[in-house]
Amino acid sequence: MPTSQTTIALIFDYDQTLTPNYMQDEALFPAFGIDSGKFWKRCGVLVREQGYDSELAYMKVLLDTLDFDRPSNAQLKELGAKLSYYPGLPEMFEEFAKGLLTPEDDALGIHVEYYIISSGLKAVIDGSSLRKHVRAVFGCEYAEDSDGRISFPKRVISHTQKTQFLFRVNKGLLDLATDVNDHMDDDLRPVPFENMVYVGDGPTDIPCFNVIRKQGGQAIAVYNPDDPTRAAFRKCYQLCAHTDRVRHIAPADFRAGSHLRLLLDEMVSEIATRIKARRQAALDLGTVRAPGHG
Ligand SMILES: [Mg+2]
Repeated sequence: MPTSQTTIALIFDYDQTLTPNYMQDEALFPAFGIDSGKFWKRCGVLVREQGYDSELAYMKVLLDTLDFDRPSNAQLKELGAKLSYYPGLPEMFEEFAKGLLTPEDDALGIHVEYYIISSGLKAVIDGSSLRKHVRAVFGCEYAEDSDGRISFPKRVISHTQKTQFLFRVNKGLLDLATDVNDHMDDDLRPVPFENMVYVGDGPTDIPCFNVIRKQGGQAIAVYNPDDPTRAAFRKCYQLCAHTDRVRHIAPADFRAGSHLRLLLDEMVSEIATRIKARRQAALDLGTVRAPGHG
């Protein structure tokens, strides 16, 4: 029995996509008195000279720097309250679908869900004001030692591993204890890729952009319009103009009426229309096949 496939998923990267900052700089370093320049320099050395993945490098340097002052995951979560975002967030999550989906969509169960897939720390995003609007947050996680302090990376989501979580949304396997590689027929997957929009900010999102577009979903690259160096715009421009990773780029402004919101509105409306057309086609087919009506 096929699932209804009436969920539309908007999936966001976190750092530089929902916020102009990095969560480490914004929430962690001020709380622990860490020098940002020195911290990222040490990470760079591990990556360049010892071949670390950049995500494992920052997780290690954080543990090494904090040493005996290592916090608990609950303390990391509290720091999430300090996060700030691009304009229009978190309000967008409240108002977005309301103005867009019709009563007919509602009646058919068509609805929008939000997800975050980040190479930052899940605990911090879990403590943010975005959390209550988002169905699931996937991010790097620490295990705790017997004293309840963070002690070892439990889950690392590098930019290539981020794609695994698109498949988790696709298959509805949000419980990370389940094996995402288990076979599932396309019509049993709760969120088909065509019902997904992925929003990211740059090269670290390329694997997700590729997967989502190849599978029939939509991708948008966003940039910080206030970046005076224009580097943020340039990396999006490259993704769009020269490498065809994304078809759409927009300033990271989540307020109603912005270029980004117009794109999201249009994409979600289009997906809703397609869901309805497909449902109608299946009903018509059903009518033709029904006994006594053929
Ligand atoms: Mg990012």
